[in-house]
Amino acid sequence: MSNTSLDLAKIRADFPILQRKVNGQPLVYLDNAATSQTPLPVIEAISDYYKNTNANIHRGVHALSQEATEQFEEARKKIQTHFNAKHAHEIILTSGTTHAINLVANGFAAFLKAGDELIVSELEHHANIVPWQMLCERTGAQLNVIPMTEDGTLDMGVYHSLLNEHTKVVFVNHVSNALGIINPIDHIIEKAHAVGAAVLIDGAQAAPHIVPDVQALDVDFYTMSAHKICGPTGIGMLYGKAEWLGKLPPYQGGGEMIDQVTFKKTTYADLPHKFEAGTPNIAGGVGFGAAIDYMRRVGFDAIAAHEHELLQHATEKLNQIDGLRIYGDVAKKVAVISFNVDGIHPYDIGTILDKMGIAVRTGHHCCQPIMDHYQIPGTVRASFAFYNTHDEVERLVAGVEKAVRMLR
Ligand SMILES: *Cc1c(COP(=O)(O)O)cnc(C)c1O
Repeated sequence: MSNTSLDLAKIRADFPILQRKVNGQPLVYLDNAATSQTPLPVIEAISDYYKNTNANIHRGVHALSQEATEQFEEARKKIQTHFNAKHAHEIILTSGTTHAINLVANGFAAFLKAGDELIVSELEHHANIVPWQMLCERTGAQLNVIPMTEDGTLDMGVYHSLLNEHTKVVFVNHVSNALGIINPIDHIIEKAHAVGAAVLIDGAQAAPHIVPDVQALDVDFYTMSAHKICGPTGIGMLYGKAEWLGKLPPYQGGGEMIDQVTFKKTTYADLPHKFEAGTPNIAGGVGFGAAIDYMRRVGFDAIAAHEHELLQHATEKLNQIDGLRIYGDVAKKVAVISFNVDGIHPYDIGTILDKMGIAVRTGHHCCQPIMDHYQIPGTVRASFAFYNTHDEVERLVAGVEKAVRMLR
């Protein structure tokens, strides 16, 4: 069935967890939008770091400290290359997307006043809503919302009408984690820049599927988390244009982020260290770099082609189930399928699937505004990665059919 160039047997052998059973059945892991699984080269990079190199970075004269620093900075360069940032110091290593967005939103308090306006979309993860609401409370700025249409795409007409000379920041996701829809970020960025607004793109859900070029996009800030691209948890990145990061005040104070400290006045370190207070997640950074290497070896073109086949296969089969509705079933989307079946609570379907070893997510997926839009408590979400197979699609479909028979 598959005509893509991925050697799935070889790839799956890299992921020990895919070999295990859950509730007596071989695991079918379809919760990749929440977190991806970790391949051996990433696990080994982290374990090798602790076995051979472990030391604190940037301050030591001794060999281990210098090696640890080199490995951490090497990871930053891999990230820079992957996202095509102009400078390595435009890559800030954070604990993840949530931390990255909070860092930027917090910094903008220095630039905003009452009467300024911000634009968010109805499709956002709570991580790209709440930090900005907190910013609005502090500054008196106003939060405007680009609404979604019934098919899950953004209403661009309303977006255009919201933009004006008071607009200071626009923040939307590249790909919606709840629906899988790819947003027209090129256009969103261009229009925002035309009124002088900065743009932050939450790329957490795009990064496993798409390689964004931050320079070509001309985006001001781009965020993502390593754990969604086969890396470890607790590490992620903020890309920021050097001119913005230069202006933005530090988020946290402490060691590593300073130049000179006296009780009269402290001056801050240069980028990227200004935003990296305290001992960072060094092993996580090393694992992040290894994850990028791994994904690039598999190849993003092959990943996209294979995932597209899985998406088409699953969409076609699920749509044949009586009373099943897929939300956001549009052409431009990644392999994330959010659905409900008439009269059945998503949680009940998820629970029965789990008994069959099939891991999906149920609930609001940290996107309550989307659920409010459709007036539903949540959805069942099956999200695919490049290591998933057509057999697993068949097991999902058979599982949903069985759940529906049991629950009707
Ligand atoms: C996962 C995700 C987040 C949050 O990422 P963390 O790693 O929990 O900080 C934010 N936005 C989107 C679109 C996501 O998919």
